Amino acid sequence: MTLGGGGGGGGEMEEIVIVGGGLSGLATALALHRKGIASLVLERSESLRASGAAITIRTNGWHALDYLGIASALRQTAVSIEGFASINLDWSMQQTRSPISRGETRCIRRSDLIEALARDLPPGSIRFGSYVKFIKSDPFSSCPILHLNDGSTIKAKALVGCDGVNSVVLDYLGMRPTNFSGSSAFRGFTNYPEGHGFENLFFLATRGKVLLGRVPVDDTLVYWFITRHWTPEDLKISNNQDLMKSSSLESIKDFPEDVTKMIEKCDRSSLSCMRFRYRAPWDLMVESYRKGTTTVAGDALHAMSPFIGQGGSASLEDAIVLTEFLAQKLREVGPDRPHQELMGKYEEALEGYVKHRRMRLVRLSAQSYLMTKLAETSSVLVKTLCIAVMIIFFRDYTAHTEYDCRRLRL
Ligand SMILES: Cc1cc2nc3c(=O)[nH]c(=O)nc-3n(C[C@H](O)[C@H](O)[C@H](O)COP(=O)(O)OP(=O)(O)OC[C@H]3O[C@@H](n4cnc5c(N)ncnc54)[C@H](O)[C@@H]3O)c2cc1C
Repeated sequence: MTLGGGGGGGGEMEEIVIVGGGLSGLATALALHRKGIASLVLERSESLRASGAAITIRTNGWHALDYLGIASALRQTAVSIEGFASINLDWSMQQTRSPISRGETRCIRRSDLIEALARDLPPGSIRFGSYVKFIKSDPFSSCPILHLNDGSTIKAKALVGCDGVNSVVLDYLGMRPTNFSGSSAFRGFTNYPEGHGFENLFFLATRGKVLLGRVPVDDTLVYWFITRHWTPEDLKISNNQDLMKSSSLESIKDFPEDVTKMIEKCDRSSLSCMRFRYRAPWDLMVESYRKGTTTVAGDALHAMSPFIGQGGSASLEDAIVLTEFLAQKLREVGPDRPHQELMGKYEEALEGYVKHRRMRLVRLSAQSYLMTKLAETSSVLVKTLCIAVMIIFFRDYTAHTEYDCRRLRL
């Protein structure tokens, strides 16, 4: 819709605008669509992008995917993970094993997830090649006005920032940028056309501060990741597939042969390397994630290192909780919506979302933060403190996977 005037100069006017067409933005758009609420996704890339090879989705994430109506199709693409196997190569060659105590865990291709989220959106819902450079508030209506790379502007009645760790919407909200952690991860796929022969286990091996993870996607495809200390050279390495492979091999050179062979056989095009980013739990506790009718979701709000594998699932939860609050408030205001009343309802919906998400996100980010500290620190005192706090607050280590966002039917 294109409207002139309204205090914001010429330009386009939209109801709900979502900045970022990654996992979080697409999930938010799809959840809204399922409730009959239209939105516009602005994505800076020219097409759907899904870097990082695969993503592990735990039970809480599957509940969200069920809500979105795409879980059944995705279940066909990935085997169910039956347990964990871990080995500390500094101490012994003996594996410890534990079954997955509750629910469902699968590791799915990121491209499958992103495509499934985008597939059911109405045509025109995603506008590719739309890079939001900055956002200003309309002095007359207080609506956010988005300034795009091509010089155009879009005024949004409600705005959701799903634009990841370098979010432009965060700047507009006045929130702190996300922090850098001291670790980075290499990720990729290895394909075994004759079958990989690994059990359907989430396998973890550590030596020193290097952690290797291996998870089957299906009978022939394996997802793996290596986490280790970040070094400034990683900036250069992350732009070159050959360097990523050689650096991965270098990191695990003392690991068992099947592990090194897996990295040697990897699909170079699937490789990625990135430094972890996070928002500290105390920031999530005190910061305001809303300004007027603007809020944030996904990594823009709660980037966390992947040690508990919850960043993506938490982003899916955000989408559903935000949608439930929006749907409820829009129902109250009815079809003939006077502008002021509508804006008030958007504010109430976003406030409900922020309040509902806060403690859930504080707990997830605290658990992830402690796990990261534990992996990164060499100090015995810090390690002991982390373990003590984990025992007090997170004795049931996987309790967070029991959260079911579908219970919030407003
Ligand atoms: C190594 C690693 C492993 C992980 N493993 C797991 C796991 O196993 N399970 C799990 O649940 N989570 C995992 N995560 C976390 C998960 O990947 C993220 O939480 C999730 O991808 C966040 O999605 P997002 O949409 O918020 O952000 P992103 O995926 O970063 O998407 C942001 C989108 O916004 C677009 N964008 C950015 N700025 C602009 C702009 N100004 N204008 C327009 N568009 C813009 C970008 O192009 C991008 O498409 C892992 C993370 C890492 C780093």
